[in-house]
Amino acid sequence: CGIVGYIGKKEVAPILIEGLQKLEYRGYDSAGVAIYSDNDVVVRKYKGRLSVLEEHLNKEKIPGTLGIGHTRWATHGEPNDINAHPHTNYAGDIAVVHNGIIENYVKIREWLIKEGKVFETEVDTEVIAHLIDYYYEDDLVEAVQKSVRRMEGAYAIGVISKKNPDKLVAVRKDSPLVVGIGNGENFIASDIPALLKHTRNVYFLNDGEMAVLDENNITLLNEFGHKIEREVFEVTWDI
Ligand code: GLU
Repeated sequence: CGIVGYIGKKEVAPILIEGLQKLEYRGYDSAGVAIYSDNDVVVRKYKGRLSVLEEHLNKEKIPGTLGIGHTRWATHGEPNDINAHPHTNYAGDIAVVHNGIIENYVKIREWLIKEGKVFETEVDTEVIAHLIDYYYEDDLVEAVQKSVRRMEGAYAIGVISKKNPDKLVAVRKDSPLVVGIGNGENFIASDIPALLKHTRNVYFLNDGEMAVLDENNITLLNEFGHKIEREVFEVTWDI
């Protein structure tokens, strides 16, 4: 339901929590984060209020400057800790947050199980993590592009992988996603309020478009993987 993502030099955990707080108005049943920390992707996710996650992250500091966060409004799979986002592949090296519904997830899931992938939940989102894992050779962007081609439905997704810890990848179709342009740091969010503390300069993604973020650059790609130019939109209003 709510998505935030960050890549830069600052500690990411408080940035994710604050961003998600700005999206609380959308309603949610659980919340979670994935943080690239100490050469690993660390996931913490809980059913209930964002404060449950926040209290946990206050106690267990997870250092890191790359991460994604999510507040979930369950569509497939009951609201509980394990069904909360981020979802990962079985090895846990790829983490995905997703808003929307993958309509053909049952078919993809059955096929991936035949291919040997082990699923932990009934959530449609989990197929995205396993798809990316299936297609991953040595480039996260390529793996996400191939995965998206298999997916039907509505999605805004944010992806990180411990194999490409210098990147945050986002893509959307029929579900909103904005990219926040910072200075030595960049952001994604499902809505502008989550970004305003950090930047007023944003890119809006159109359907099928992908954003590849590192600390200093944002590359926008269309559905065919070709680079596109987009005007920077300056947000002039306050929340
Ligand atoms: N369909 C996904 C789920 O049930 C995403 C829901 C959302 O947009 O929060 O977890």
